[in-house]
Amino acid sequence: MSSFIIPSNKNKYDATKAFNDLDIVHWVQHNNKSVQVGDIIYIYESKPTQKIILKTKVIERDVYNYHIDDSQYSVIGFDFSSKGPWFSLKLVKNVNVNISLTDLHNLGLKGNIQSLRSLDDATSQAIDIISNDTNGLTSVKLTEGKKIQFYTTRYERNPKNRQVCLNYYGYNCMACGFNFERMYGELGYKFVEIHHKKPLFLQNKEVSIDPINDLVPLCSNCHRMIHRDKTNIITLDELRSKISFTYTNFD
Ligand SMILES: [Zn+2]
Ligand SMILES: [Zn+2]
Repeated sequence: MSSFIIPSNKNKYDATKAFNDLDIVHWVQHNNKSVQVGDIIYIYESKPTQKIILKTKVIERDVYNYHIDDSQYSVIGFDFSSKGPWFSLKLVKNVNVNISLTDLHNLGLKGNIQSLRSLDDATSQAIDIISNDTNGLTSVKLTEGKKIQFYTTRYERNPKNRQVCLNYYGYNCMACGFNFERMYGELGYKFVEIHHKKPLFLQNKEVSIDPINDLVPLCSNCHRMIHRDKTNIITLDELRSKISFTYTNFD
């Protein structure tokens, strides 16, 4: 199975609405020969959004009979039903995590996305990992040899590990010192987020977590910032070095 990315222009066609209403949509194939049935095609919305919006699967190619009426999703003047043959693409999922052109460049994609492009396995896996985390707290990096290094919130949510970490560190943010209870009173009692400090490698299916060395409590702001660049995993120390204000003096 191969993966591809294809641009879509919202000024011509509302792909998000079309796929969500119809599930299966025809897409102009041009003279493409490399895409096979079963392949994945990510739909990338070009300017002004410039991000991946949909993950689709090719269920047919070389379709010469345009049999799905999606005319209401085309802006008047753009008739895609006259430009066969087409693929039939089935919606796999909406990509709600913001994966921008910059992210794609950081993952190794060169240039712009103006026509169908193929994605190497590592890049498509990286897109998959990032897009599976609707909290937007997953960071991914391709290392030399295109291995995937990533942070995931999966391990940060395990209640046992979480509790061991909190018993040890307490409920202050370990980057800026923020304490939710001190700020919000009862509402913030025992609230803090847990971050997994060590990147995982895709190959490691079972990872044992050391809750004291691998996990760290962070406030929501610091947690967001540490994951802000989805393709450049920063460390706790790097984050601390960027902080110009800490709450430690209020203790
Ligand atoms: Zn903080
Ligand atoms: Zn985290």
